[in-house]
Amino acid sequence: MPELPEVETITRALTAHLLAHKFTRIDTHIEALRYSLKPLKNSELLNKKIVSVRRRARYIIIEMTKCHAFIIHLGMSGSLRVVPAKTKRLKHEHVVWHLDDGMTLRFDCPRRFGFVKVCTLPKVGAEPVELNQLGPEPLSAEFDAVYLYKSTRRRTGSIKSLIMNNAIVVGVGNIYVTEALFESGISPLRKAMSLTKKQCDKLVSEIKKVLAHSIEIGGTTIANYKSVDGSEGKFVQLLQVYGNDKNCPVCDTPIKQKRLAGRNSYYCPRCQK
Ligand SMILES: [Zn+2]
Repeated sequence: MPELPEVETITRALTAHLLAHKFTRIDTHIEALRYSLKPLKNSELLNKKIVSVRRRARYIIIEMTKCHAFIIHLGMSGSLRVVPAKTKRLKHEHVVWHLDDGMTLRFDCPRRFGFVKVCTLPKVGAEPVELNQLGPEPLSAEFDAVYLYKSTRRRTGSIKSLIMNNAIVVGVGNIYVTEALFESGISPLRKAMSLTKKQCDKLVSEIKKVLAHSIEIGGTTIANYKSVDGSEGKFVQLLQVYGNDKNCPVCDTPIKQKRLAGRNSYYCPRCQK
């Protein structure tokens, strides 16, 4: 699944192609992805200048004038590309937006878990009401040690599940929380409420570090993720514990693997307490 750094990379690449342009036609080649695509047929969406392309959690928001916007979620294996209109459509490119410069934005979504929603923003540059329930962005100043410490009190679940809860902090997926916990020396199985202030401080800074680094080098490629220009992320080569079925790179103890809240967890039983 494309995670926050991947979506950030895609959003930055899209900005260059879309900003100040207009959509002149929208083709849908299927009735629905996760939600019906019928709202995309509204002619109000056409010929409005694109004023912003931005990311919130793992959602891409394309805002046009008059507060019209698309919210795109890539689901498990969706991808976006910008190609000339004459380029042959791929089998799973279910939504094609035509731009005023002869290019097209295409949403390839083979498993149909992704979606495109149409919304009207409360005001220019505002967050869509659909995304109101989300916690802070992990790279924002709002997500700091004090916030995490407060959020972990009275929480008996594991620290790993807490970090992956979008109401606490958005977009820190399995790969990134696994790596950040390793760097922090904290076991994924630890009760969230048992973390000290110092550990919250360390964990917050490692989460920011791992995400910022991954964005810098263009995201992680585990399965289907590709950036808009088709280049693949390099971060996967730097993973220390995620997907590691051998030994800890620090102490050489065999890495443990455990299912936690339906996701694979990797950790070093010696370095992570
Ligand atoms: Zn170790």
